[in-house]
Amino acid sequence: MKRTLIIVITLAVIFAVALNIPGNIESIQSKESKLPPIPTSSKLVEVHFLDTAHFQTPEAFTVSGGSIFKTAEMIHGAILVTHESDSFLFDTGLGENVDSQFKQDMPAFLVPFMSYQKGQSVLAQLSTNSKLPKPNKIILSHAHWDHASGIMDFPELDIWVTNAERNYMKEEGPPAVFPSQVSSPSIKWRTYSLSADDYAGFSDSLDIYDDGTAVLVSLSGHSPGSVGLFVNTKKGKRYFFIGDAVWNLDGLEKLKSKFWISSFLVDHDKQKTNAIVAKIVALATVNPELIIVPAHDRRAWE
Ligand SMILES: [Zn+2]
Repeated sequence: MKRTLIIVITLAVIFAVALNIPGNIESIQSKESKLPPIPTSSKLVEVHFLDTAHFQTPEAFTVSGGSIFKTAEMIHGAILVTHESDSFLFDTGLGENVDSQFKQDMPAFLVPFMSYQKGQSVLAQLSTNSKLPKPNKIILSHAHWDHASGIMDFPELDIWVTNAERNYMKEEGPPAVFPSQVSSPSIKWRTYSLSADDYAGFSDSLDIYDDGTAVLVSLSGHSPGSVGLFVNTKKGKRYFFIGDAVWNLDGLEKLKSKFWISSFLVDHDKQKTNAIVAKIVALATVNPELIIVPAHDRRAWE
């Protein structure tokens, strides 16, 4: 019975891919989106990429116009940002208990499409690599299961989410938000709001250290309270971690939305998500030095 269901869903997906809805996003021009100069405090800042799991999926599932015959190499990971004596995680990747969370909360019809190959959780990497500083807080780009899976591994830390995201989490369930990850009363949620300060053309922002080294901006669309993170490092690198605004770098390079079924399943507001993508592309055009990192495209993590 289960096998029949999977075959039916797979055929439906192949049919949907064959429909090949173009998913074009209209480009915009944004002269105001020049990045501010690299702040002097960036000499205090380092970034570590911690991958926690991999998965392969047909490219067609990740971006409109993608090939059904090409495989997209994807990742579930976390970003560890250190700033002098402080450090924080931006997302958690897949945590120690991801298997039981997945078993409990992922709807059966999606299991074959969402499976993963586990690597080391952030907790395990921190305990085996003494060079990695311990984080003092976790900031979620958004509360989807593959970003929040590890929060229970760090019961002592505050978990930062925007007010909008916290409200969304209370209403949303699987496959986007897993109760097994976010419903424990012991989780130390720390909700915050972005202020109306423009950063690189993004009208709502929060300068985490008040020195321009790590700045959160609203990317509301994929989820209501999604945020992106700009980081300026001591090596002179300028990163923009954009969460799930796109899954595949091709979405930025070709100005395409996610595959329409994927977008239907995971983008809370597709139009707003597409507007964010257009904004990111405009920003990248004006600032070619900016390294844009979607949460799941392995090419951006290498
Ligand atoms: Zn997501």
